[in-house]
Amino acid sequence: MATLTDQFGIQEALAKLGIQEINEGTSTGSRSFANGKIIESYSPVDGTLIGKVKASTKEDYEAAMAKAEEAFKIWRLVPAPKRGEIVRQMGDELRKYKEPLGQLVSYEMGKSLQEGLGEVQEMIDICDFAVGLSRQLYGLTMHSERPMHRMYEQWHPIGIVGIISAFNFPVAVWSWNSMIAWVCGDVCIWKPSSKTPLCAVACQNIIKTVLERNNVPEGVSCLVVGNESGDLINNDKRIPLVSFTGSTRIGRHVSKTVAERFGNTILELGGNNAIIVSEHADINMVLVGAVFGAVGTAGQRCTTTRRLIIHESVYGKTVEVLKNAYGQLKIGNPLDSNNHVGPLIDKGSVQDYLNAIEKAKAEGGKIIVEGGVMEGEGYESGCYVKPCIIEAENHFHIVQEETFAPILYIMKYKTIQEAIDMQNNVPQGLSSSIFTNNMREMELFLSHAGSDCGIANVNIGTSGAEIGGAFGGEKETGGGRESGSDAWKAYMRRQTNTINYGTELPLAQGIRFDL
Ligand code: NAD
Repeated sequence: MATLTDQFGIQEALAKLGIQEINEGTSTGSRSFANGKIIESYSPVDGTLIGKVKASTKEDYEAAMAKAEEAFKIWRLVPAPKRGEIVRQMGDELRKYKEPLGQLVSYEMGKSLQEGLGEVQEMIDICDFAVGLSRQLYGLTMHSERPMHRMYEQWHPIGIVGIISAFNFPVAVWSWNSMIAWVCGDVCIWKPSSKTPLCAVACQNIIKTVLERNNVPEGVSCLVVGNESGDLINNDKRIPLVSFTGSTRIGRHVSKTVAERFGNTILELGGNNAIIVSEHADINMVLVGAVFGAVGTAGQRCTTTRRLIIHESVYGKTVEVLKNAYGQLKIGNPLDSNNHVGPLIDKGSVQDYLNAIEKAKAEGGKIIVEGGVMEGEGYESGCYVKPCIIEAENHFHIVQEETFAPILYIMKYKTIQEAIDMQNNVPQGLSSSIFTNNMREMELFLSHAGSDCGIANVNIGTSGAEIGGAFGGEKETGGGRESGSDAWKAYMRRQTNTINYGTELPLAQGIRFDL
């Protein structure tokens, strides 16, 4: 194993999580196997090689799928509250491993330790939610138009759920999907991002003991690693539902491929989220919401604040406050709680960030807070960049795109309707927010004529959703919903049942068919 930044206890965390120098990328419950090429995982924090994972070959994938099919036949017959009890135990296991898993998330992905721990907390929360849900998979009962008939609907498990996840939430997205899918009676096959494979191996290791202890068939939780497995999942008719989290570009390909075979998708794609700063806003609240929203996770959240739409009367003041706050940001090792901004995931992302700044300037953007790549001691990985602010116009090509980095575009508005139109006038539709103490503005923003996003907040930034709500967005964000509320319905198939307990056979709509 390579040398690690041990002042932050990473070596110890890896040992606790069962991460080895070379890890098997394919596993079905307690059994690990893989024969593919080696994927190396480097930390963006200090450039260290953390560990290696063997990718899954087509044969490994087939072996995992065979286990999943076998497991589904058993798992679907386990009563839902009993499945919930197993998910409850997984939540307990995650509580035990919260610290080391949070550390690994921070070290492999680059988000702050606080956010890494927060991500694990979300996993624990979704377990709790799923346990309750396991006794609430309700179907409706309808009144039949025919005498002595009973009509109702029930929800059945859908089968094998494919989960393809992004690097920026390397563990939570899997749990949002899998914990809900499991209580619904489905089994899961997970393909994590090849940029954060160790987090996925750690999750499998953590839940392994629960599966073994309860004699759960091993194929309930399958892991496959490497891009080849992504396309195998897309094209696999045995997988009725693919939950995909990632970029709009790859999501479009997944969506088409799965639709071609009449499979279902939950698509959680890119965002281009704005905060409207009204003349009636509390500027101190805007400051926290906007700065955390724009620079938290180094701008690598799907819900990151990318645009600030500011009323012209408070524009100057807001810009001053922001410039001052950006001047105080500490950039550095995210495991050190003194720092506000950690690294981008890799040098490719650094290049995307630099290109976006150049494009914004070429389109007429004015730099308000200068960006740039950090150099020198502590920045050896080459992945640390300065959060920057650019005065821009909403129609700029670059403003219409999602750049996964801490670049905040700011712009002015005159009327609230103009601000809402600007907020909506992008291809994506994930998260949105308004800071105002004016009730009319607030209600207009939340009305049918208001925000067109899946998430619309008042006096809260665009990032940091809770698991209790259904999460997702419209337009090029893909339209999917996962996590809380009734998002579970996507993981089940609905069946309408009509029972005739009479002695006649009347047809619906009064149709006569006399024999
Ligand atoms: P990405 O699209 O590059 O990768 C996402 C996943 O797709 C990875 O696991 C990748 O290996 C896999 N993949 C690559 N090619 C594939 C193929 N042909 N078939 C199937 N899978 C394939 O995204 P990323 O860089 O990991 O993550 C950042 C993006 O994810 C951003 O656009 C962000 O907004 C989005 N995101 C969205 C949400 C949401 O809930 N809306 C949440 C997190 C991230």
